[in-house]
Amino acid sequence: MKKLFAALLTILVLAPSVPATGKGKADLVIRHATIVDVEKERLIPDQAVVTAGDRILAVGPDAEIAGEWNAARSLDAGNRYLIPGLWDMHVHFGGGPDLIAENQALLPLYVAHGITTVRDCSGDLPYDVLSWRQQIADGKLFGPTLLSSGPKIEGIKPVWKGTLETGSEAEVDQAIAKLKDLKVDFVKITDSTLKPELFLYAVKQARAAGLNTSGHIPMALTLGQAVDAGLSSVEHLDYALNAGVKDEAAIAADYAAGRIDRAEASRRLDQGYDPAFAVQGFRHLAEKGVFVTPTLNGSRIIAYLDREDHAKDEYLAYIGPGLRKTYEWRVQRAAKATPEQVQARHEQFEVTAAVLPLLQKAGVTIIGGTDAGFLNSFNYPGIGLHDELSLYVRYGLTPAQALASVTRAGPAWFGKLDRYGSVTVGKVADLVLLNGNPMEDIAATRAIHAVVLRGQVQDRGALDNMMSDTRAKVAAWDKQAQAGGK
Ligand SMILES: [Zn+2]
Repeated sequence: MKKLFAALLTILVLAPSVPATGKGKADLVIRHATIVDVEKERLIPDQAVVTAGDRILAVGPDAEIAGEWNAARSLDAGNRYLIPGLWDMHVHFGGGPDLIAENQALLPLYVAHGITTVRDCSGDLPYDVLSWRQQIADGKLFGPTLLSSGPKIEGIKPVWKGTLETGSEAEVDQAIAKLKDLKVDFVKITDSTLKPELFLYAVKQARAAGLNTSGHIPMALTLGQAVDAGLSSVEHLDYALNAGVKDEAAIAADYAAGRIDRAEASRRLDQGYDPAFAVQGFRHLAEKGVFVTPTLNGSRIIAYLDREDHAKDEYLAYIGPGLRKTYEWRVQRAAKATPEQVQARHEQFEVTAAVLPLLQKAGVTIIGGTDAGFLNSFNYPGIGLHDELSLYVRYGLTPAQALASVTRAGPAWFGKLDRYGSVTVGKVADLVLLNGNPMEDIAATRAIHAVVLRGQVQDRGALDNMMSDTRAKVAAWDKQAQAGGK
């Protein structure tokens, strides 16, 4: 019924722009594009895509469609590959109020890498980010469409800043009412001091209020308990791994009763992981409609800091000095590790990454997300999502599955597949034109010819300018920092 209504609405809205005689008016026609139908994993050659405002008006064979429209701008795709805009479903902004300009300078980096939507999973500037969300929607600030959790729900005096502190069910209720008022896009719940029973209560109440939830699951709970309470997505693959641990419930109970500490609980969870048992646990996630955001790129960087020196990464030139400073704590912590700990870190990463194809096989929807932003060392906004995609394929997804994780899984999670996730009529004109075929080689997402952001064409020159503008800003900040003796 809803679908039928949407279809009728589309016809009603679109019909007046195609007069009975003469040509329809449009803002843009992209000609001779090879459309990548991510859902059906197929290519549709020689298509024309017509847009007006931020919407796709018409799609069809170039020979039939292109002549029917008078478009203000024409872009010849030259048979390049047209995909829906990319979504990075796990990013952060933060590092304190002094870093607002540095965080805003990250926004164009996303667009320059084909990312048209980001999901902000909360940081210490939640109210600023919510105002950027509005400014971007109003066209006052340039950046990808921003979806944000706003302040996360936590316990009393948590390690994280920018939270709503809750110590009782009444306070959780107040927090959720406040988040509803802020019109957040979803609810993030973390567990540094939040009581496990309040974690479950917050998940339930947020779902009852019509909001998706994600977060860090308390060690005293099993993944199944969080899922049964209504958790919408599991962030970070290591949490998903727990569903494949046979005595997970016993470990959670021992930890809850104070019989073992966090380190011991982690050790037992890692040792207890059994790939044969895991598929069953992962099926439970699939049945409950829970998605998983692996955020492999960040974990891999930290796991292999001993082998890979990032100090001379070229991309550091695009990251402000204050944000670069937030990278240091993980680097310093990693440097203190013993050879045994380093070895364990490598193994832990490899075991965790191997979970990815099992999740896919069990029918769990994988959401592409990086964890890029402040604190997460060398996990760079923009290029990081392409690194994340490479890892998905390296660890067992097909290129098409990886592509779906960054074009369709995000809209699906937010219930927005009616507006995003395909190059079809009625969808938002968020598009990326690639030089190569990403279904053949996922690295093709890195070679971007043009981005269409809410109907606006950003050609290669414009994308290069976004990069050089941010680089120039960072260079100026670096100079300032040096002059200030910092
Ligand atoms: Zn995160």
